Amino acid sequence: MRPLALDLSRTALIHRRTKIIATVGPSSREAAVLAELVEAGVDVFRLNFSHGTHEQHAEVLHRIREISAQKGCHVAILADLCGPKIRVGHFVEGGIDLIKGEAVTVTVRPVEGERGLIPSEYAALAGDVGRGDKMLLDDGKMMLEVREVEGTEIHCVVRVGGRLTNRKGLNLPGVSLSTPALTEKDREDARFAARLGVDYFALSFVRRPEDIFDLQALLKEEGVDIPIIAKIEKPEAVKNLGPILEVSQGIMIARGDLGVEMPAEEVPLLQEGMIRLAIEANRQVIVATQMMESMIQSPRPTRAEVTDVAAAAMAGSDAVMLSAETASGLYPIETVQTMGRVLRMVEGHQWQQSQFGDLVKHPTPATSQKTRDLQISEAIARGTAQLSRELSVRAIIVPAHTGQTAVMISCERPAAPILAAATDPAICRRLALCWGVQTTQVSPEQFDDPYQLTATLAQKHHISTEGEFLLYVTGGPPEQPHTVPVLSPLML
Ligand code: PEP
Repeated sequence: MRPLALDLSRTALIHRRTKIIATVGPSSREAAVLAELVEAGVDVFRLNFSHGTHEQHAEVLHRIREISAQKGCHVAILADLCGPKIRVGHFVEGGIDLIKGEAVTVTVRPVEGERGLIPSEYAALAGDVGRGDKMLLDDGKMMLEVREVEGTEIHCVVRVGGRLTNRKGLNLPGVSLSTPALTEKDREDARFAARLGVDYFALSFVRRPEDIFDLQALLKEEGVDIPIIAKIEKPEAVKNLGPILEVSQGIMIARGDLGVEMPAEEVPLLQEGMIRLAIEANRQVIVATQMMESMIQSPRPTRAEVTDVAAAAMAGSDAVMLSAETASGLYPIETVQTMGRVLRMVEGHQWQQSQFGDLVKHPTPATSQKTRDLQISEAIARGTAQLSRELSVRAIIVPAHTGQTAVMISCERPAAPILAAATDPAICRRLALCWGVQTTQVSPEQFDDPYQLTATLAQKHHISTEGEFLLYVTGGPPEQPHTVPVLSPLML
């Protein structure tokens, strides 16, 4: 094997394709740090509604919008709703020790916990579990087994001990929860975030398409249409992946809870399969959790973490997500920079090997249930990607009305960067999540003139076009029925 000789400065590779999502928290919510994070390469910020107040989230959103305006870039904001995440309550002394073999009681009464007594606010817990069920605590570090349920009290035995502290997570693998995916708190948070004007929602613990419909209905009541990412962290969601993909904008492979809810050794294989299915369905896919975990404390990642980030990019995911690394870690900026370098190295290699051709899906079978318009649009997107490889085009220019054409081309993982333009800043921000898409806001006059638009975008993104081929793909206005994208090769 020859050593890698990648020239990452070549035009085809100046733009990173795989996007970076950073969770905002105490380590990153100040304006100066947010600005540095944007500079370091964050494409999407996640507001995690499991933590923080509405005031804090609003303040962060306004700061991000201000920074983006100053820098002339479009960073998206994703509001992550916590869903029916079950947690233990508070303890008199902040925590208790669980000793293997001892008896403990989990109660849904509103009390403080103490030795032998674990409170939980999840009122339906006592009704949902039964004798023999397992309760995993703090990401599976400790385990209880249910002996008997008596009204509000669940009597258990400790199977795996440890130190349990305030508000740690409680998972019930194999137990069907009776609670809806959208809790009362989620409804309040969703209304608040919708009014703030976030760009995406992520919904936790989705089990079936109806969970997405509930949030869509609430957003409709609010008069907004904001795309929803389904967090896949329950075995039921894995089983229902096809129908969930159909009704959502994309999925997040939430490996933290997924790896507790089902055997952790299944997660890597499921990850690979889910990435493929999401791309095939023209949906965005995010790989999340513990990607650079050691960088919470250390300025350098472990080699295993570097390999994990690389694997997500090699499988073709749209984005990789940082959680505590940027929310509460010591090195948020360095983490984003390191992740960016790993992604660019992988992409350089993928480009050199096959110009991203290895990531592409198979043509839609003729028997597909899809509408004729959708089949044609997908075929044109696939043709665009194929031409980008065959003609070595410098860029793919996409004037975006809704962003749908840019999304479809992105899902074909073309060889050249997708330079999209939109008059609506909300469309520009949404496209920040999509693999290989760089978006610019333009005036209506620029939007309607292919040559001027192409020149503007190429210049903005440092792509020299003299004597070079470009592809221009326009989807047509959404109000016009039965429009399919039109693809034209262009030379300036
Ligand atoms: C996860 O469980 O992996 C995840 C992303 O969800 P959260 O960070 O909300 O626990």
